[in-house]
Amino acid sequence: MSLYPISEKIAVGKKVATEKEIFVNEEIGRSAEIRFTCCQCGNGNTLRLTPYESGFPVLHLYEHEKVLSGNDLLKNGMAGKTSPDRLYLGKITVDNLPTLYFGTDCMKCASKYIGIFGYGEKQPGLEMLEISGIWNYTSAV
Ligand SMILES: [Zn+2]
Repeated sequence: MSLYPISEKIAVGKKVATEKEIFVNEEIGRSAEIRFTCCQCGNGNTLRLTPYESGFPVLHLYEHEKVLSGNDLLKNGMAGKTSPDRLYLGKITVDNLPTLYFGTDCMKCASKYIGIFGYGEKQPGLEMLEISGIWNYTSAV
């Protein structure tokens, strides 16, 4: 599945179930496989998140409220407020990790989805990829 950046205002809909949310060290490997079921057509979709390749900075979503407001991210449980000692990562993160997002379309019906994930070294020797979830969205333009 292709992952793309989102550049227009969106309305966030339903969160869809993902099979596995947290990947640690060797579970990540070259890339982590994320599976989710489309809430519109029931199709099972699979995408891969590759560290340092997949995703776009979450800041691009809420900066100037271009795509979403920071409050939308918090209220939908897409990300949380960053701890004061990690604010260099931005105000809003997934579990105080460097946080990225992606847009993608259902392979079968082309419904639109947005996913948010954190990836990085949680502590020395502990590499984590944590997906907060995948949500259906529609354009709000
Ligand atoms: Zn679908």
